[in-house]
Amino acid sequence: MLVPYLSASRLKTAQDCYLKYHYHYEQPNADAQALKEIGNHRDNSQAGRMGNNVHDALEEWRRPDPETGKTPKPSFGRLMTLYKEINAKREVDFNFYEDGKRMLKRWFDRRGRDPVRALHVEMQFGRHDAPYMLSRTGTPVLGFIDLVIEHRDGTIECIDYKTQRLDITQAEADNSIQAAIYLCVARELWPDRPIQFTFDLQRHGTVTTVWTDERLEDFKDWLHSQYENIMAVDSTDTTKVPATIGKGCQWCAYTPICPKAQDMMQNGAWDMLTPTLGADLNDLLNELATIKASKQMLDKRKKAIDAHIKEEVFDRSMKVEDCKTETENWSVEWREQTRRSYIPTEVQKLVPPTVFGTMVSLSNAAVDRVLPILPDDVAEAIKRTQISKPQRMLIVKPKESGDDGEN
Ligand code: SF4
Repeated sequence: MLVPYLSASRLKTAQDCYLKYHYHYEQPNADAQALKEIGNHRDNSQAGRMGNNVHDALEEWRRPDPETGKTPKPSFGRLMTLYKEINAKREVDFNFYEDGKRMLKRWFDRRGRDPVRALHVEMQFGRHDAPYMLSRTGTPVLGFIDLVIEHRDGTIECIDYKTQRLDITQAEADNSIQAAIYLCVARELWPDRPIQFTFDLQRHGTVTTVWTDERLEDFKDWLHSQYENIMAVDSTDTTKVPATIGKGCQWCAYTPICPKAQDMMQNGAWDMLTPTLGADLNDLLNELATIKASKQMLDKRKKAIDAHIKEEVFDRSMKVEDCKTETENWSVEWREQTRRSYIPTEVQKLVPPTVFGTMVSLSNAAVDRVLPILPDDVAEAIKRTQISKPQRMLIVKPKESGDDGEN
């Protein structure tokens, strides 16, 4: 597969599932492109926009004066002014706006008052067309360090702002690929200085990790082997790219076109991936957006298959009785049926209020269920309101079970 450079998110995607990496970064077809767009739209949720606004306000606030190189003095008023200006450009709903404001206030009270010497804000290492090459191993990497500060004792600290609800533990920080990549780059840019990396979680506190030079060199070797592993995956044929079913499938935007995920859904095994719901509302809403997007794609696919059967397998000029065929596993028939339905307002007029209140819905089945308990004349009156319409329907049955299945 193509790996122009590695970043923490690229590597995580490949580690989770090569097929997802292929769909996301190699974009083999129009469906993958459309699903990537949908996924990006999902990431552009209110919570995501608010997080970006908080992030951008903090970055601007710390940005050194371009002429003097001095970091502005910490002022909460200025931070709020920047936050409001950024919100005017990237709007969010009022409750999200307030959430961001509260987050910044708490952050400022806890650790924003201390003056720092900012060296770089949003420091980019590498570009898409010219990645940063790690020394010795030559692994191409790319990333953005939110803030680089210099302590009085000369220590260089790389800081990454996070507005997520979940906290990050010390063990997670000590094994973070993002932290390790940033520290490898910092080690090369400031070879004689002590270096450290900090996750600055606006909803929580800070978690700092320090890696020895020896560990960073080991990490570089490991990273390079990961780089080679991903490049060695043959993606010339999408159907042969390995897919790994796992927890990450729940959030994967490519489930509508992933053969493994589709197999699991058809076999009823998909629920095993999501036995319980998590507590994070943002994650649940992300999942909901994925489900909606998947449903749209599947509905589109179903319509296309229906149309293909009606127009290519059968033909509107064929006699109805000739519109049936069989495959190895299925029998399919495009038959004429009568579709009947009740008019809800008519049913409501005729059914006594006490019975009407017990009806869950006004579907055919729900109305049919109450007919036997109604006086004969009322039941007959309701039946007379029923509308019957002839309609052609595709009936698809699996050959082994003989179960009816309306397509
Ligand atoms: S649904 Fe799962 S197996 Fe399929 S591409 Fe996504 S992550 Fe991979």
